[in-house]
Amino acid sequence: MNAAPTRADFERVMVPNYAPQGFVPVRGEGSRVWDQEGRDYIDFGGGIAVTCLGHAHPALVRALTEQAGKIWHLSNIYTNEPALRLAERLVERTFAERVFFANSGGEANEAALKLARRAAYDRFGENKYEIIAFDGSFHGRTFFTVSVGGQPKYSSGFGPVPAGITHLPYNDLDAVAKQISDRTCAVILEPVIGESGIVPATPEFLHGLRELTRKHSAALIYDEVQSGMGRTGKLYCYEHYGVVPDILTSAKGIGGGFPLAAMLTTADWAKHFSVGVHGSTYGGNPLGCAVANAVLDIIDTPETLNGVLARADRMAERLNAISAKFGAFSELRYRGLWFGWQLKPEFLGRAGEVLNAAAKEGVMVLLAGPDVVRMAPSLVISDAEMDEGLARLERAVQSVFGG
Ligand SMILES: *Cc1c(COP(=O)(O)O)cnc(C)c1O
Repeated sequence: MNAAPTRADFERVMVPNYAPQGFVPVRGEGSRVWDQEGRDYIDFGGGIAVTCLGHAHPALVRALTEQAGKIWHLSNIYTNEPALRLAERLVERTFAERVFFANSGGEANEAALKLARRAAYDRFGENKYEIIAFDGSFHGRTFFTVSVGGQPKYSSGFGPVPAGITHLPYNDLDAVAKQISDRTCAVILEPVIGESGIVPATPEFLHGLRELTRKHSAALIYDEVQSGMGRTGKLYCYEHYGVVPDILTSAKGIGGGFPLAAMLTTADWAKHFSVGVHGSTYGGNPLGCAVANAVLDIIDTPETLNGVLARADRMAERLNAISAKFGAFSELRYRGLWFGWQLKPEFLGRAGEVLNAAAKEGVMVLLAGPDVVRMAPSLVISDAEMDEGLARLERAVQSVFGG
């Protein structure tokens, strides 16, 4: 047998599009992760809001291993019980009447955008294809979704982007009112922008978009890839606003770490994806759907969802105390267990230093750009794990800004 691979092998064998941390995690339990050296880390990153029930949750392990002994894969030439069961529950629990499964957030958004364009084409002809999206938003890394996403750095250098996409300032309803027309087929947004630092939509913005999209027969698409699955204390974030979309995308937390995504919509929109119009080999894979059913069992309960809000307030209080002590952060934005910790103007660009110092102290955090430390811990993190992570994080902040 060869020796275990190490981080040093990364540059030798991997495409250099990532720059992973210096340690290699090998095992996790709850909100604690161990690396190859046996050092432990408290996980406040959640694999970017994915491991919503922590690592190796017994109910998820059971669901996956039980399904693994039955059937792994069928393709969509057949349907399967876990997928039907999951779709039934999502329909029951949301505005949606129909579900399409995919494997990642980008694919779910690709499906949503294609559905909006196809429905417009079927109903109104070929001139209704314009899409309105927002600055700073993130919708995935397929070519269509980077083009619709509001961060030019992700779409530039790949040749001509698909036509008809306009980016407007987030929360600026007047700008949308000026741009939208009968050529618009979709308005897509995150109800809370994740990658740009946990920036929520105003209620007026969502209500206004709902009216404008109805008036112009355009699809209102919510990208809830990051905000969904209990992250904000509701199953889906839109429930806080009471404004329903036509199409909603869900991924990240939905599989608790198993790759899975869903596009939810109404029967009226869904019918434009008739047989053969769209598809995916793995979409609705029995393993992923079996795990997602177990995730939903735990997340979609008052105990877990209310627990998110209680844990969030508890964590925010401590983070604000750390802010006050070291004076490096101007603001803590949070919606449920989803935090954007904004650096003060004089410390802009230094969020990466905090992330590295945190890893050194044994706590995993995320960034939302260079100026915001982002955190998305497990929705069921224990008080003890949270306290230990916060103590480590405080030492990290002290090491960077403590003077
Ligand atoms: C992560 C993310 C995506 C992309 O999901 P992938 O699974 O990486 O394709 C899309 N939209 C939002 C809001 C996200 O946070």
